[in-house]
Amino acid sequence: MLRVENLNKFFNRNQVLFDINFEINKGVFLSILGPSGCGKTTLLRCIAGLEEVQSGKIFINGRDVTNFHPSNRNIAMVFQTYALYPHMTVKDNITIGLRIKKVPKNEIEQKLSKVVDFLKIGDILNKYPSQISGGQRQRVAIARALVKEPDIFLFDEPLSNLDALLREKAREEIKKILIELNATAVFVTHDQVEAMTLSDFIIVMDRGRIMQFGTPEEIYNNPQNFFTASFVGSPQINYYNCKVLDQKIIIENDLEIQKIDNLREGNYILAIRPEKILLEETKDSIKITGKTLFYDNLGSYFLINVLVNNVIFKVINKGKIERNQELNLYLPIKDIFVFTEDGKRVK
Ligand code: ATP
Repeated sequence: MLRVENLNKFFNRNQVLFDINFEINKGVFLSILGPSGCGKTTLLRCIAGLEEVQSGKIFINGRDVTNFHPSNRNIAMVFQTYALYPHMTVKDNITIGLRIKKVPKNEIEQKLSKVVDFLKIGDILNKYPSQISGGQRQRVAIARALVKEPDIFLFDEPLSNLDALLREKAREEIKKILIELNATAVFVTHDQVEAMTLSDFIIVMDRGRIMQFGTPEEIYNNPQNFFTASFVGSPQINYYNCKVLDQKIIIENDLEIQKIDNLREGNYILAIRPEKILLEETKDSIKITGKTLFYDNLGSYFLINVLVNNVIFKVINKGKIERNQELNLYLPIKDIFVFTEDGKRVK
């Protein structure tokens, strides 16, 4: 349904997208995830045709649309601000695109009543955007996209203006709608929870490059580079500079642990997720002993900070553990990621 090939994008001399390649099938929900300024919105705008690309190709539903005007790409975009016209009623906001295209009146009414039923917004059709809530505005923006019956929905951080609770509800709603329609969607976000919960696939981006394309499970459990491992995961993955020597590993110039097989001597980054560190002995693990510093109460669990020599390990535990307790930590070797200094995964 969507294929992007060797896409490069410059603003004047400044390159902001580097050799972007990916494809998704019909019905796939894809998130583009990355920090502020990494090029997510620009990539979405290139797909929409709102930005010109300097090289590469974009295919939508089998057609090469690289040089097509946005209105001929059969896409619908939902913007962060929803971009509703303040002087138009909800009904007019939803149907404006169809009216511009001179779709016959009865056909417009038919399409309208379908999305109105679907999104349950019948009671606000004659209101103006200023008279409805943030959540309702979002539904109207989605309704406007739905009536176009596009090949692909493009969402540019559509939830970022909502408060945390509404955001979670809205997220569920978008997911439900798109699953019911078997719609194809590309969703830009800097919120990893949003990306993990909504998507079939995630593109992790950094400084204009795709760092990893994969399912949420692949991205989380099998990161291909340090950027992906450290960007995705909350609480964040534990990571340390380390030196691998002939017989041992030295972490942060301070803590010695046993050597991991097959690692050549050199400098690396070692990483392990907080939930992978265990307090009970388990086979094929590295044992270290430290003292508890403090804990963070995260509701359904506690994040225990443990000082081992001068290195802090964050560990997830069901219960709290008071400070200054001696604690053995077990790091299963299979759960330890090792990256080169420049971020490539080696184990
Ligand atoms: P955010 O999450 O903050 O919206 P983003 O990942 O969507 O960030 P983009 O908005 O795509 O990032 O911006 C990528 C880079 O391109 C940034 O360095 C930005 O300054 C630059 N940029 C974006 N739009 C323009 C423009 N119209 N002219 C020049 N540079 C631009």
